[in-house]
Amino acid sequence: MTVAPSLRPSLLRRVLVGVAALAVGSAAAVTTGPAPSPASAAPGPDPAVTQHVVAISIDGLNPSAISPERTPALTRLRRNGAGTLNARTEREMTVTLPNHTGMVTSRRIEAAEGGHGVDWNDERQDPATVQEAAGGPVGSVFSVLNNNGRSAAVFTSKEKFRIFDRSWDRGVDRFTRRTDNRELMTLAIRDIARQRRPFTFIHLSAPDVAGHADGFMSRAYLRAVQAADAQVGRLLAALDRRSRLRANTTIVLTADHGGRGEGHSDPTKLDNYRVPFLVWGAGAARGADLYRLNPDFANPGTGRPTYSAPRQPVRNGMVADLALDLLGIDAVKGSELDRRQNLEVR
Ligand SMILES: [Zn+2]
Repeated sequence: MTVAPSLRPSLLRRVLVGVAALAVGSAAAVTTGPAPSPASAAPGPDPAVTQHVVAISIDGLNPSAISPERTPALTRLRRNGAGTLNARTEREMTVTLPNHTGMVTSRRIEAAEGGHGVDWNDERQDPATVQEAAGGPVGSVFSVLNNNGRSAAVFTSKEKFRIFDRSWDRGVDRFTRRTDNRELMTLAIRDIARQRRPFTFIHLSAPDVAGHADGFMSRAYLRAVQAADAQVGRLLAALDRRSRLRANTTIVLTADHGGRGEGHSDPTKLDNYRVPFLVWGAGAARGADLYRLNPDFANPGTGRPTYSAPRQPVRNGMVADLALDLLGIDAVKGSELDRRQNLEVR
């Protein structure tokens, strides 16, 4: 279905949601608002289907490590949500900072092609910001939320993520770094329960750290995946104890890259560029495969599609535009991955 641009369907829908919110209170409006548009609707955000998005990135999570016994929490997200274990990273690089910058900007990496330009993976402060890296303005889920008067927080286990706080200072209302993943999750859960922010980003590093020390997919690595899963399980348990919060929260879980053996930096290897992408909660279908839900996207098999492939794979860089879509907000200006917000998760 094509709708004339002059009708501004997304704006109209948002006005309707707003009116409903004024009439009956925002919590009820989210669950009783206008019915979602069909999957073929014009681009732009659907009405808000959730009040809170928690994006979780498990650093270096190879989907081959996911199993009901080892990762009960991820298995719950997968079985009771909409997801795929065959999503893709950024095509250019399979390392941490470039891929996480992709997640929060929904851009590719290569600056000359409109990407965010963060093509390094350390704590350097020159360039100091993503905007300097790109050579121009770069928005993010944080800046868009800030422009909409909404709040966001980042909980990360690596110092290099500080560039997000420098780049979108007003959009990142809280930035917390703890190496200890358990302590980090404790702080994140407390913040999620108390602050009820629209967007929280949580980064768990344990599998990547174990992978570099003992090999990706090694026994030590698999134990670290299990430990990361346990942290996700703590968040799910915290939501289970708060039924209203849980009813209004959606989790989007992915990874920056996978890995096997010594590392993960070769972007041409399947084990490095294949990642999970799981959506669970208020805004997500239960037990759905994302490629079956989305005929506009194509399961890449074992391939590594370019950004110009007519049907794109689900990519980890779709986190920002999807999160905004779930919250009923337009995509990040200048973004590319799910810019039309047509990745449907329900
Ligand atoms: Zn690594």
